[in-house]
Amino acid sequence: MEIIGLFGGTFNPIHNGHIALAQSVVDALHCSQIRFIPAAIPPHKAIPAVTAQHRANMVQLAIADHPGFILDTCELDRQGASYTIETLHLLRHRLPDLSLCLIMGQDSYQKLPSWHRWQELLDYSHLLIVHRAAAEATLQLHAPHADKLVDIAQAASQFAAQTHGLVSYLPLTPPDVSSTHIRAALGQGDTVIEAMPEKVLYYIKENHLYQS
Ligand code: ATP
Repeated sequence: MEIIGLFGGTFNPIHNGHIALAQSVVDALHCSQIRFIPAAIPPHKAIPAVTAQHRANMVQLAIADHPGFILDTCELDRQGASYTIETLHLLRHRLPDLSLCLIMGQDSYQKLPSWHRWQELLDYSHLLIVHRAAAEATLQLHAPHADKLVDIAQAASQFAAQTHGLVSYLPLTPPDVSSTHIRAALGQGDTVIEAMPEKVLYYIKENHLYQS
């Protein structure tokens, strides 16, 4: 069965850490597609000053040269907080016979118990957690996931064999970049050329985003 990676985030703005993470997931799971899903209203962060449409436009620019990376705007079309469980419910309905894999950085996973209906996520998709530079060296799994863990070496075949329900951990570390750091640097007029695709940087300048 094909595996579709689902990569949600605020992407405020998208950066090279996101792109490297998605590429390492493709390499590990042999996903046919990674869908980048910008949150309209992230439930756990301050409402971004930059609109969801701008953030989605930047994602589109950043992924344009990567075959298999796709922008999915399903959260932009909904009202209220962008709950991942509702996105999974919708995508499972649209793609009933495919293996879906929710992708998140280890920092997000550590905060998972504060997510709306987090214990239901595995009813709709698999979960792949990717190490992040600032996170602890070893992954602390939340209790309901302990008996769902498969080694990353077996994840491609096991995730492809069933539509949802498994967890794996990719210990590779994407570049130590964060949107918070980029916003702060841009606000001070600092250069962030190494942190993000050039086309995104150009878009930010053209549209006067992240200026203090
Ligand atoms: P902010 O600094 O504003 O909190 P961010 O850089 O964490 O933003 P998000 O769009 O919130 O970016 O991240 C989306 C997902 O990508 C999250 O699951 C996050 O853990 C993961 N992620 C982002 N950057 C990295 C990175 N450099 N390494 C590993 N995971 C990352």
